[in-house]
Amino acid sequence: MHPPAATRPLVGAGLKMNLTSSEARRYFDALRPAVAGITGCDLVVLPPFTSLHVAQERLHGSNVAWGAQDVHPLDRGAHTGDISMPMLVDLGCTYVEVGHIERRRDHGETEGVVAAKVAQVLRYDATPILCIGEPAAGDPEAAREQVVGQLRVELAGIAARDRARVVIAYEPTWAIGVAETASAGHVACVQRGIRAWLASPEGGGVAVRVIYGGSVDQSAVRSMLEAGGVDGLFVGRAALDPGRFAAIAAAVQAATQTSG
Ligand code: PEP
Repeated sequence: MHPPAATRPLVGAGLKMNLTSSEARRYFDALRPAVAGITGCDLVVLPPFTSLHVAQERLHGSNVAWGAQDVHPLDRGAHTGDISMPMLVDLGCTYVEVGHIERRRDHGETEGVVAAKVAQVLRYDATPILCIGEPAAGDPEAAREQVVGQLRVELAGIAARDRARVVIAYEPTWAIGVAETASAGHVACVQRGIRAWLASPEGGGVAVRVIYGGSVDQSAVRSMLEAGGVDGLFVGRAALDPGRFAAIAAAVQAATQTSG
């Protein structure tokens, strides 16, 4: 039996600006059998827009969902180079990543823009993976205040029942693309703060999935889930190898089963 959606672990792969369509075809064809036995957690892969049609073709009917790394907050119109939710839904996307630090940094995405994107994803009954995190390493309590501040703005205007459908990816900026994850103690403090705020009347009184991202590899899985207390992981570089991503997913499943 599956645990309730709010607590069922999620393992996501953010492939960033990697893989041509041909490379993505090989990637999905390797990933699909490698994770076929994983039933204890949800899996999602976020390839570039140009490979979403390949994901739809190769992952359809599997236990791996696919989604996009970004979306425009409007349905259509004069927005050269942008991609809308109707386009993503048409390609079978059920998740959309919003507010990754590289989007905020490279494209000047403000908290207001991120909020509009979260609302747009929810409007189409897809799951936003909202990436939040503090910019610099330091005191976890200060980090907790910063990310809760982000949530106040980026979930403003979203009804409680819809907030419950958001996945929060806690990704401290300083822990992305480096050699080591944040410490499990740091992550535990911040994720508890995120959950406490969302459970409060101001946060809407909801429980959501909180996952951690930032230089995750298989070796970090158990401590992140057990001591860090997160509901899953968001993986960048390590996910570019389908075998490594499958090993991380299997480790998440194993850790969840032994702790549950
Ligand atoms: C990311 O960019 O969201 C990420 C988690 O990357 P990495 O695992 O490579 O740090």
